[in-house]
Amino acid sequence: MPELPEVETIRRQLEPWIIGQTVVGATSHPSHKFTPAVEICGATFVSANRRGKFLLFGLDDSRELVVHLGMTGQLLPHAARDDKYLRASWDLASGDHLGFRDVRRFGRIRVAEDGVYEGALATLGPEPFDPAFSPQSLWMAVKKSNRHIKTQLLSQRVVAGVGNIYADEACFLAGVHPGARKLTKAKAERLHDAIVTVLRQGVDNGGTTLRDYVAADGEAGNNQFHLVCYGRYGEPCVACGDELRRTTLDARTTTFCATCQTR
Ligand SMILES: [Zn+2]
Repeated sequence: MPELPEVETIRRQLEPWIIGQTVVGATSHPSHKFTPAVEICGATFVSANRRGKFLLFGLDDSRELVVHLGMTGQLLPHAARDDKYLRASWDLASGDHLGFRDVRRFGRIRVAEDGVYEGALATLGPEPFDPAFSPQSLWMAVKKSNRHIKTQLLSQRVVAGVGNIYADEACFLAGVHPGARKLTKAKAERLHDAIVTVLRQGVDNGGTTLRDYVAADGEAGNNQFHLVCYGRYGEPCVACGDELRRTTLDARTTTFCATCQTR
């Protein structure tokens, strides 16, 4: 599933291309997830922003096109129109078009009034690169809950944009057991710094491609070559050499080092 670094890579690529483009036509597969995606005909894109894993394309009529890529969603300029996985597409006055391709159909498209959100987007925690996300904010948020640390990170309420890959990486880097339920202040600081570090590295590497993710230019990311924990169970820990273990935490497969990561 695309997480913050993958979504941010797509945003950065689309921004210079999409701003100034006017929608002259649109089609989408009938789906309750897409209503009313086709209702932006006549509007011009004026911005390309991101909140957590959501893409927010500002329009010149005080509305936003909100896209969540789900598990396998891809936003592709010039997507092949006969692709059977193309779920929506927007024709642009320039003659270009933007396609939304989604094999597993967990993606969501909405149109919102500027800044007026509902559902998960309305309850997102702070952006990881924003000063609002701090060791103190992380410590306070975790203190209020008794759920596993990893589950809290995945909730999007403690910090926006972290999914399974970057949660495993951040917990490993911080030496925090993903199944811990409390954090000391010192560990909250380490985990905060680790979250920022792994997400920034993910963005710098153009995202992580395991199966489906490609950026808007159709290219895979490079961060999968830099992962030190996620998915590497059975391999030696890069820090201590012990074998990385796999467990299931709240239904999510989790890799960790039982020696380096403590509760
Ligand atoms: Zn270790």
